[in-house]
Amino acid sequence: MSVFDSLIHRLGADEVIAPGPAMQPYLREQRGLFADRSVVAVLRPVDTAGAARAVAACAELGLTVVPQGGNTGLCGGAAGRGEADTVVLSLERLNRIRDIQADDFSITVEAGCTLAAVQAAAASVDRLFPLSYAAEAECQIGGNLATNAGGMNVLRYGNARDLTLGLEVVLADGRVWDGLRSLRKDNSGYDLRDLFIGAEGTLGLITAATLKLFPPVRERATAIVGLATAEAAVALFGHLRTESGDTVTSCELMGRRPLEYTLRYATDCHDPLPAPHPWYLLVELTSSAADAQLPRRLEAALAASHGAGSDYRIARGPDEAADFWRLRNSIPGAQKGAGASIKNDISVPTVAMPAFLTEASTAVEAACPGVRVCAFGHLGDGNVHFNLTRPEAMNDEDFLPQWGALTRVVNDRVAAYRGSFAAEHGVGQLKPDEVGRLKDPVEQDLMRALKQALDPDNRLNPGKLVPPGGG
Ligand code: FAD
Repeated sequence: MSVFDSLIHRLGADEVIAPGPAMQPYLREQRGLFADRSVVAVLRPVDTAGAARAVAACAELGLTVVPQGGNTGLCGGAAGRGEADTVVLSLERLNRIRDIQADDFSITVEAGCTLAAVQAAAASVDRLFPLSYAAEAECQIGGNLATNAGGMNVLRYGNARDLTLGLEVVLADGRVWDGLRSLRKDNSGYDLRDLFIGAEGTLGLITAATLKLFPPVRERATAIVGLATAEAAVALFGHLRTESGDTVTSCELMGRRPLEYTLRYATDCHDPLPAPHPWYLLVELTSSAADAQLPRRLEAALAASHGAGSDYRIARGPDEAADFWRLRNSIPGAQKGAGASIKNDISVPTVAMPAFLTEASTAVEAACPGVRVCAFGHLGDGNVHFNLTRPEAMNDEDFLPQWGALTRVVNDRVAAYRGSFAAEHGVGQLKPDEVGRLKDPVEQDLMRALKQALDPDNRLNPGKLVPPGGG
């Protein structure tokens, strides 16, 4: 019996997709960098027991398993690596809201629920699930947890890890760990939950999660501020946090260049302030109380910033706030209009960000004269997308092969500040070499030891995240 027939025999035809047109949606990959046509089958279980059966069957048949959620990841983590004997295991049919407890401020959902569905379920009981970002209609909560996703509200609520109370996980041998609990405190052993969050599917298959909910946002105040330097942006951020009663929910930094990309290449984007500035901060305060004073408090805090952000505009309502956010959210798409980009998703301590931006810009300009730095992102989290657009005089084909070399130039500056070369989007198959190059050797040994303990046959997402080799 062929491997494919064995899978059908064990799991049923309804749960197995053969190579062919029906498989194509599972093989596409956001940036087109990691398309894999060698996948033997796509498995689509409908519940946890089915997922456990599928993983056990793969172990018996000697197949490796690539877990897949909404397939919106940007590092090739949910794509095969072109090796034989690989299956993609899609969680998309595990998409039930299992339980929602408004009084307990918790919700239990299956891994295949989209992020938007979880947000909507929370809203239906007057609660907030605060994880939010551009791919929320497609990405799934299992993928969000596997990549420890961030987004626009990390500053206030934390990233996916901080929002998780309990997990249900299928292990590499097909056993199920039921760690679904809504406890806020539990010091009865190792925190196994945190092992699987951010593990990019290399240690287990997340099938369900219990998540934290919050009171809904009833009031928000949004401003865009023009600034002369990144130092002024960091100072203003600290000032606003203190002066606003720590109600800053988002603090997004944009260089003038990315803003210009949106004005030129995106629709419905307008220069927000009368004069141009080298840097902009998009700041949002939120309150769960109906606090009509919030915009006035933002205004007062900005006015008291001693000129750091003297040119600003406070949104006069939700439409203008949406205009400001459109500028920020249009950058990734608009950037394409200016030519190919090399993407870096880095973090350093927020106070070190100005020095990092200066030094890294100098270093990449020396390595590739004319390269255009396009820096924007979550200043409040110390995380920016330090993207590099090709020089105007160079074509995409000559620029993109410099990806590895220019990324190393950037990451060396990141390392100098004890920062992270993968702050938000993870490692996948894009950055394992940088794990090996830059992570502490002891940390690498611990990662390999965990992988060996939980997946001794290297069946779950091999070649991703965990650096090869070791002593
Ligand atoms: P996938 O892409 O399917 O998988 C991602 C990784 O998780 C893979 O390694 C996969 O094997 C593993 N995985 C998936 N499901 C499971 C599971 N149930 N159990 C175990 N492993 C699993 N990310 C951010 O953090 N912040 C952002 O602001 C952000 N913005 C984005 C904007 C856009 C327009 C796009 C396209 C992407 C953005 N991303 C962002 C990246 C991406 O959306 C996140 O990484 C997301 O969490 C991936 O979820 P997914 O369901 O699509 O997972």
